[in-house]
Amino acid sequence: MMFGFSTRIQNQIPQAVLNICNTLRDNGYQAYVVGGAVRDILLGKVPGDWDVATDAHPDQVISLFTKTIPTGIKFGTVTVVKDISVEVTTFRSDGIYRDARHPQDVSFSTSIEEDLKRRDFTINAIAYDPITKNFIDPYGGRRDLRRRILRAVGDPKARFSEDALRMLRFFRFLATLEFKPCRRSLAAVEPALIRKISMERIRDEMSKLLLATAPGATLLTMHKAGLLQEILPEVALGDGVTQGSFHRFDVLRHSLEAVDNSLPQLELRWAALLHDVAKPKLRTEDEHGIHFYKHDVEGEQMARDILTRLRYSKKFVEKVATLVRWHMFSVHGQSTDKALRRFVRRVGKENVMDLMELRRADILALGKQTTCNAWHNWRMLRDRLQAVLDSDTILTINDLAIGGHEVMAALDLKPGPEVGAALEWLLEKVLDDPAINEPEILLSLLQSYENTPFLRNRQENAPLQRKC
Ligand code: ATP
Ligand code: MG
Repeated sequence: MMFGFSTRIQNQIPQAVLNICNTLRDNGYQAYVVGGAVRDILLGKVPGDWDVATDAHPDQVISLFTKTIPTGIKFGTVTVVKDISVEVTTFRSDGIYRDARHPQDVSFSTSIEEDLKRRDFTINAIAYDPITKNFIDPYGGRRDLRRRILRAVGDPKARFSEDALRMLRFFRFLATLEFKPCRRSLAAVEPALIRKISMERIRDEMSKLLLATAPGATLLTMHKAGLLQEILPEVALGDGVTQGSFHRFDVLRHSLEAVDNSLPQLELRWAALLHDVAKPKLRTEDEHGIHFYKHDVEGEQMARDILTRLRYSKKFVEKVATLVRWHMFSVHGQSTDKALRRFVRRVGKENVMDLMELRRADILALGKQTTCNAWHNWRMLRDRLQAVLDSDTILTINDLAIGGHEVMAALDLKPGPEVGAALEWLLEKVLDDPAINEPEILLSLLQSYENTPFLRNRQENAPLQRKC
């Protein structure tokens, strides 16, 4: 399988990377493929990006290649652009880390061993020379790959306190590679240090972690190490919060099961993790059992706060918050067409199938035997909702047979919120009976709208809104 792979690794290195290494060599410099690419190839995976380490200084690298971008000159990195982009970084030895984030200074070095020493994990500290076909592996990275163990290079406490992001990278790699933690490295995690790290960097690692095949177990390990509490205290609060007889798990474990059972799409993974986030603070118990009234409404706001804190985009935050808000939807396989149309309208067409996926994950995460009937019902609902989405049924005011202009003319209104309110009113009628979506019928309906108390009051109290 993995070893005796010289030929295989050689075949997998793109020509552009080989050319870069050859050019550096021909000019008297050392050149190694390093980092995640070597690790991924040895694991039989396709590397995402390619890193080359060299003793050439950045200006020397720039002078050797036609197209380069000085992406991280201060840290010795130049991106060489061929048919792919390759990061070429000068061997470094990092100075003192004062703030648990960045080295105070970096100095360039002439030795690959020195460069590997500053890397985070043994499996990320292997260099491969594509010309001599030799590995430089001073920390037993290949052995750890074979044993599937994630281990910090050298003293884990020192590594984590130099750069606290490494703690989160530790859990990220545990999840994505499905490795076991080295006990000493795990014990070295010092949760409070993560406060030094920017939310953006935390967000990026969390995104990668959540997209692992089944990150639940790692998130639980992260919780036991105290790091989840630092990053997502609201989620950590679910530990030990019991939920009654439908559920096998407490709120935390149920949420983690939901993550594992949801499709590997970031919005869905976050929605699964946060769908019950309000439960710990809303739990009540009486003679009828355990309740979490309005946890969907409260959860929406909490999800918004959490993801905004982590600097996700507004669009992303709103998407996840909406999924959390409606995860308790009550339409089912036998609901009326009218109810299904109202549901689609309320949650938005674009969220319907995501909510169905979230529901599937939520059911699986109950951790109980699910009856065939429940799945039959789920499929029936999905197919019927799909039919609503595929049909020409109108679902938004834009689908109405008349628009704002006609409404303004019919009701003698100026542009303003009243026009929208009238359109919404018409839409409600049309959702009940799609056949009435004809201009004449809607215009005649508006006559009865004109007589509603709402409009009469508004007209009396706010004459300035009227045209004349
Ligand atoms: P991936 O690209 O799959 O996210 P990777 O291991 O390639 O994983 P990169 O961020 O591309 O991660 O970094 C490339 C290499 O740089 C790593 O393999 C590791 O050797 C080193 N490295 C990255 N971040 C750190 C860090 N915070 N501390 C020490 N070494 C690091
Ligand atoms: Mg990489």
